[in-house]
Amino acid sequence: MTVSPESPRRVLLARPRGYCAGVDRAVQTVEKALELHGPPVYVRKQIVHNVHVVRSLEAQGAIFVEETADVPEGELVVFSAHGVAPVVHDEARQRRLRTIDATCPLVTKVHVEARRFAAEDNDILLIGHEGHEEVVGTTGEAPEHVHLVDGPAEAATVVVRDPARVAYLSQTTLSVDETNATVAALRRRFPLLQGPPSDDICYATQNRQVAVKAIAAAAELVLVVGSANSSNSVRLVEVARDAGAPAAYLVDDAGGIDERWLAGVSTVGLTSGASVPEDLVDQVLRWLSERGWTDVTEVESAQERLLFALPQELRRDLREAASAAGFRRGTGRSGSEQPRAGVVPIRGSGSAAAR
Ligand code: SF4
Repeated sequence: MTVSPESPRRVLLARPRGYCAGVDRAVQTVEKALELHGPPVYVRKQIVHNVHVVRSLEAQGAIFVEETADVPEGELVVFSAHGVAPVVHDEARQRRLRTIDATCPLVTKVHVEARRFAAEDNDILLIGHEGHEEVVGTTGEAPEHVHLVDGPAEAATVVVRDPARVAYLSQTTLSVDETNATVAALRRRFPLLQGPPSDDICYATQNRQVAVKAIAAAAELVLVVGSANSSNSVRLVEVARDAGAPAAYLVDDAGGIDERWLAGVSTVGLTSGASVPEDLVDQVLRWLSERGWTDVTEVESAQERLLFALPQELRRDLREAASAAGFRRGTGRSGSEQPRAGVVPIRGSGSAAAR
């Protein structure tokens, strides 16, 4: 396609994009834990896979560590949205750590399925990417039963004990189309293959892939805002290319855009991964606007209203703090008095309302 300097420059903005319910909950969990307990709050692994989110929480007092062994004994640690293996909970107990588990409920669902299939003595074929934190956590639920299948090619070679007792599960953030191809290949080899009662690939991953497909064919360039270690963001780039976009790139923010990508481009498609705050998309829109791409059309393919409640251990702490604050008000203690032993002060904004 030839694009003249006079060609209309427009942006097709995919919707849904950005934060999913699990990421929103995980980020709020760290923020509320910081408000309630004060820094430092330790977080095992990146709470969500986005460099900007991690930096922002670090600035508020969160300390990110790789393992529970890196957390001083007795301190508070938050487990990330990607989930952890049971052994991580055991280690935390041994180190007398206080824990808040921000595992996305849709990842927990996959853990529950892994335990059930293992209890029935099935071999579990876990479709996912080796080394991804979610895959490590799910595998840890039943390490003797789980075999990783990283794409259709590995479906042809995976070895099981009994072809009549095989089940599959998947990582929540995979390409829907590629996973369907992998499951079809597994089913050809194992006709009695069992699966989860509902898709493991989560609603947010599916919706964002449908949304990027809706803009990809009409755009000469698709920009996906997201970090390189974000599985669902990387998948959006692949899906955009597969859906017909001549070029698609992943950028952490506007600073990652190469102006040469825009040469000859009339229509830019724009979306973001499930761990990306909306202000980064706004930043890219401003960057494009400054270069003439001022006509922005949002293309909506689904509406999302899902919200998850905060982790129960955090809700309990927030309730206790709220009732302690009410008790202090009821006894007329002044703000300058020191709280009694066992009474937890609320720091920061003092908002104790769990969603
Ligand atoms: S991408 Fe899906 S599974 Fe992952 S945190 Fe979001 S809703 Fe949960």
